[in-house]
Amino acid sequence: MSKQIRIAAACGAAACALTIVSLAGAPLAWAQKTQLKPGWNLFSVQQDIAVGKANAQQAERLLPMCNAPKVDAYLSQLGMKLVAHLDTHGAQYPWEFHCVNDRAINAFALPGGYVFVNRGAIEAADNEAQLAGVMAHEISHVALRHGTNQASKAQMAQIGEGVFGGLLGGGVSGAMLSQLSSFAVGGVLLRYSRTAETQADISGTQVLYESGYDPRAMAQFFEKLEAETKGKNPPEFFSDHPNPDHRVERVDEEIQRLGGIPPNARRDSQEFEAAKREVMNLPVVKKAVPGGGATGISRPAAPSANYSTYQATGYTLKYPDNWKKYGDQDNIAFAPDGGVGNDASGHGALAYGITVGISPIQNADAGNALDTATQQLIDGLKQSNPNMKVTRQSSRVRLNNLPALSTYLSNDSPAGGIETDWIITVVRPEGLVYFVCTAPQAEYSNYDKTFGNILDSVRFK
Ligand SMILES: [Zn+2]
Repeated sequence: MSKQIRIAAACGAAACALTIVSLAGAPLAWAQKTQLKPGWNLFSVQQDIAVGKANAQQAERLLPMCNAPKVDAYLSQLGMKLVAHLDTHGAQYPWEFHCVNDRAINAFALPGGYVFVNRGAIEAADNEAQLAGVMAHEISHVALRHGTNQASKAQMAQIGEGVFGGLLGGGVSGAMLSQLSSFAVGGVLLRYSRTAETQADISGTQVLYESGYDPRAMAQFFEKLEAETKGKNPPEFFSDHPNPDHRVERVDEEIQRLGGIPPNARRDSQEFEAAKREVMNLPVVKKAVPGGGATGISRPAAPSANYSTYQATGYTLKYPDNWKKYGDQDNIAFAPDGGVGNDASGHGALAYGITVGISPIQNADAGNALDTATQQLIDGLKQSNPNMKVTRQSSRVRLNNLPALSTYLSNDSPAGGIETDWIITVVRPEGLVYFVCTAPQAEYSNYDKTFGNILDSVRFK
């Protein structure tokens, strides 16, 4: 029953008229703040943190970081002030806040509390409240566990109806976890639905309000982004955080539910102005490919004919000595300078080189483990790369004299155009070991021999 009727019943005629007029002006004045809670999830909070941490470590290697300790300290201080007013639904996250030296207006938060803010977002913010608004939105994605909620749905789609064994058998599959631990294919963690966006807006507004900031600042920042980029490419932020319908109206409604804009709401601080000045003086990291699909990628020098040796726990291999090693043990890449960059959404992307990973084998008999696990791997890759296609079905080959499968796929290249991905998989005690050889389709023949040499050099222990 509405309160309006009860109020009307309790008052005299003159007072009633007044009450109803004022209610019409603030129809939600008595409403409670919107209650939100994380959606369905196959992952545990600990898995959120593990996946987020693995991605964050790679992000720090692949992205140009500001390396400005004062700015990182300021972001951490502001972030923790906001976290103090965030409902994490009982979870404890190891919050980290980092500044990325990228002028694109964007920010992202990995599951588990690893938040990255581009210098472009700091530069574009008019005051501390707007930056706090973006960060409050990001930490809300973490607390509402949107990244792994989406990954759970993706896994569900992958398993398909009727195959409940995988779910009952213990949540998220090892293959999925392993896939999601790679920043380059981690897109599913960061591309939110419009529903998730609305929830992050509402929660972010609550956090701003409770931290004493002007609760309109977040929506104002998004409106400003939209207005300033009208007719141009939308800012990166909206490619990861799609603009939900009635964004500003929904935020305004939440502010009414919270009791309206507080009279002494904070907007700016000297610390923000100092951090913004410092960020504006940082050297600008050049974007290597104007008009290309990704930044930081440019046609590399030819692979050297001299090779370096890499020793992993379970194998050794040789790679051209003018290539660099990225990542670590279970998820490693070897690529030339210019072969690795960031895609349009700021995610790490490899255009030239070889990736080696291990993915646990699940639900497979010893007899068909290679086929089953390879199929699971390819399905998982397709899940995070919607345009990926098999161009040559798996065929049997040998790698270091062990049975292996060779599969060719095509995908969008971060260098623009189409790439070829040649995947070799082999079953080892630690799981399915996979080697993904990647180069733009048009240049693939220049790399074929090098990829062959690398694979020929593989020795399992
Ligand atoms: Zn968002």
